[in-house]
Amino acid sequence: MISKEPENFIVPVMKKCSKCGIEKPLSEFYKHKASKDKTMSCCKICMSAYLRAYHQSEKGKAKCKAYKQSDKYKAYQKAHQKAYRQSDKYKAYQKAYQKAYRQSEKYKAYTNAYRHSEKFKAYNKAYSQSEKFKASQKAYCQSEKGKAWLAAYIKSGKYKASQRAYHQSEKGKAKYEAYKQSDKYKAYQKAYNQTEKRKAYKKAYSQTEKWKAYNKAYQKTYHLSEEQKARSKVYRQSDKMKAYRKAYEHCEKRKAYKKVYRQSDKMKAYEKAYSKAYSLRRRVKHAEKESNE
Ligand SMILES: [Zn+2]
Repeated sequence: MISKEPENFIVPVMKKCSKCGIEKPLSEFYKHKASKDKTMSCCKICMSAYLRAYHQSEKGKAKCKAYKQSDKYKAYQKAHQKAYRQSDKYKAYQKAYQKAYRQSEKYKAYTNAYRHSEKFKAYNKAYSQSEKFKASQKAYCQSEKGKAWLAAYIKSGKYKASQRAYHQSEKGKAKYEAYKQSDKYKAYQKAYNQTEKRKAYKKAYSQTEKWKAYNKAYQKTYHLSEEQKARSKVYRQSDKMKAYRKAYEHCEKRKAYKKVYRQSDKMKAYEKAYSKAYSLRRRVKHAEKESNE
């Protein structure tokens, strides 16, 4: 029988499996370099079934166990794991796992317990006293973010409440008392009293009904006290007071006041009344003189 096949025609090579006896294409057989046709004698399905059975057998289990303890296997594992840990797949897996872990109840319970532990408190204390922390605090306070945060915090009711609580605490009171007796405070008070703001405030306050009522009440009680009367007398006769009066007489304010007063209707009325009385007295004196002669 003569048959002529075209040059590029690939004959599908079929092979009969040595186990199941079914004829299958070569692609259905695992490769095996040592054999003539470079494939194994039984098909992939039969080979898998054979291997499965082998791994479940005593002999297979023993062999597998021995292999896993071999240096060859360990070296393989090591190399495989190293490559795996550097793979993008592993990195993505790690990331997803960590994210899920951080959202888990287990993690929350763990961090909560840690934050309340003595270990954490000790660590926190040591850290808050470290130079590193101080430097980072300083940098934060000077940053735009830090400034904005502080401004928002001061505006918040939380800050005011904490300030109030501190001022009412024993520690806060003691600290304030100590501050009031310090030179720093005295210098601050002095400088503050000379500021325009303070002067304006004093002026505005002295015109309030509250102040007037207070002053009236104060003067009433002040003049009632004999002791204070005596003290006031001593003060009025003191050199300090004399110097003050002298200085006051010559100050611009006083001069301006005098000028205004001299031109006031009150003064004019007084002058008129005075000159009238004076001329009357002169006339009386003159009449007396004439009657005597
Ligand atoms: Zn087969």
